[in-house]
Amino acid sequence: MEDSESSDKTALCEHKRGGDDWLPLLKGWERDVLALHPYCGSCGLVRNIGPDRAKKLGYYTEVLSEIERFLKHDSKKGGRHKLTESQKRLIVKCMEEDDVFVDLYGTLASAQKERFVEIIQKYRPDLKKCEIEYYLE
Ligand SMILES: [Zn+2]
Repeated sequence: MEDSESSDKTALCEHKRGGDDWLPLLKGWERDVLALHPYCGSCGLVRNIGPDRAKKLGYYTEVLSEIERFLKHDSKKGGRHKLTESQKRLIVKCMEEDDVFVDLYGTLASAQKERFVEIIQKYRPDLKKCEIEYYLE
């Protein structure tokens, strides 16, 4: 049994291959054809092997830097405020603490994108969803 009170970092399963299961490939929230998915022998989590593959945290921090450059440029033209260092730090911290950016085994890229937009809008509600998504491929 897992101790739910232990810290998130140590509670994460290391995911050892347990076997394979026939499951539909996921794309966004839609189900596609059946394919053999490996699943974890310790926690039972099914690995996402579909086209909607999760990306590492570094990808999202890079996208955040692009948004930072865009806002810096925008503020020079008298537009919105640039992204402050503390906003950036809080956004990165938020991502580091979120399972969808840390435990990629069963995560979909679409779920990451949704969280990325939510986290940024939490600190920068002036940024529109479509503006943030523009920087995500
Ligand atoms: Zn596992």
